[in-house]
Amino acid sequence: MEGEVGPNQVDTLSVCVLAQVIYPLFRVVEPRRISLFERKKQLLKPKELKRIQLDRLRKLVRYSYRNVPLFRKRFDEAHVKPESIKALEDLERVPFTVKTDLRDNYPLGILAVPRTKLYCLHASSGTTGKPIVVSYTHGDLERWGRLVGRTLDVAGVRKGDIVQNMFGYGLFTGGLGFHYGARALGATVIPTGTGNTKRQLMLMNDLRSAVVTCTPSYMVYLCEASRAEGYEPRKDFAVRIGVFGAEPWSEEARKRIEDVFGLSARDVYGMTELYGPGVAIECEQRNGLHVWGDEFLVETINPDTGEVLAPGKEGELVFTMLSREAMPLLRYRTRDLSRVFEEECGCGRCHPRIQRIKGRSDDMLIIGGVNVFPSQIEHVLMNISGLGDQYQIIVSHRELDRLAVKVEATPDRLNDLALRMEIRSDLMAVLGINADVELVELGALPRSDGKARRVIDLRPRE
Ligand code: ADP
Ligand code: ZN
Repeated sequence: MEGEVGPNQVDTLSVCVLAQVIYPLFRVVEPRRISLFERKKQLLKPKELKRIQLDRLRKLVRYSYRNVPLFRKRFDEAHVKPESIKALEDLERVPFTVKTDLRDNYPLGILAVPRTKLYCLHASSGTTGKPIVVSYTHGDLERWGRLVGRTLDVAGVRKGDIVQNMFGYGLFTGGLGFHYGARALGATVIPTGTGNTKRQLMLMNDLRSAVVTCTPSYMVYLCEASRAEGYEPRKDFAVRIGVFGAEPWSEEARKRIEDVFGLSARDVYGMTELYGPGVAIECEQRNGLHVWGDEFLVETINPDTGEVLAPGKEGELVFTMLSREAMPLLRYRTRDLSRVFEEECGCGRCHPRIQRIKGRSDDMLIIGGVNVFPSQIEHVLMNISGLGDQYQIIVSHRELDRLAVKVEATPDRLNDLALRMEIRSDLMAVLGINADVELVELGALPRSDGKARRVIDLRPRE
């Protein structure tokens, strides 16, 4: 048989051909195949993206000037003529819009269409004083739904997937935003909303939910609650994808969720003023969150001076909404701190990326003159074994500012002095602050089904 080509050798040959010729081809083509929904828009090239952005920006500026008295006043005060915005670089000359503009013009001061054209209103939670009310035309709602559809698509959600939506329905934009998105995509949405954890878990199991959406802190809580209810998450649930956002969370929290549920966890960003969720999402590369560049212009600025920062530099995120009809926003200052990256991503998308949000500039605690973000404390705690998932940060003042951290620990470690010392010294290393550390029983700290409230600031307000 020597020298002849036997059947086995042919097989080996074809495998080699497949491996060397066809397989690499697939790998080149693959990034193009991952996107199914609004694929053309997902894969816009920089040149085309810039062309759309400029075209929309020029129209937006004229539209806002004509229809919103506040914007007209701002442009006039800054001596900027809408027609003078001719290039994307001219964006720098457009006046900022800030949160107090929305509060001062409560409820519907920034409205570019007649009231009767509004299809829907939402409001931010407004923890202090009046909330911010936002409005949508029919076109805005449609566009928002498709944007969230695209966002879910990037996370890997497909038509027909069962999406258990555990974000709050109602005034908060999270619930309805993901609801519209799942519908736009053709997924099957279960609108469970927040709370009733036992029922959430039962439905997750019975209905074979493939996707879950909620705040990361609630998902961390579900890691513990599902076990307490007798489930083995990896075996009893079929959740493949988790889309989590609306609050900062750490890489360690992601790891914990992924380990317990065996799912792929993606970070999603949005805010009430910018439609709601769906502004930015992590792709499979997890190197930041893609901001939909055909709908938003994103910049970072120095929060103190307003100066525009170069890509890669940390600063306050500023968004311009390119096609909002009811409530256009020009250079809206979010107070969220991040960085912008503009290079093409390994996933094949050229939409700019933002780094995971570090926190809001107004979440930052100044403790004895030191700037502390709650996310830094979470990062420390989640890296220490023997601790539960829940913690609380208490800031008080008696002569000096004091930081106390309460964290849950397993019963055998509750009186473990070495563990307390380890936490103290890790917090010292990261924050440069001596914190009082208290270990409390599992289940002792409050859980939240929406955004977690982990900071208690007892200092008297000036
Ligand atoms: P409210 O401001 O009333 O609490 P929003 O839902 O509008 O309600 O909150 C938007 C804010 O939530 C953002 O400005 C940001 O601070 C935070 N946020 C949203 N998504 C994320 C995320 N993925 N990571 C960190 N923070 C987030
Ligand atoms: Zn990407």
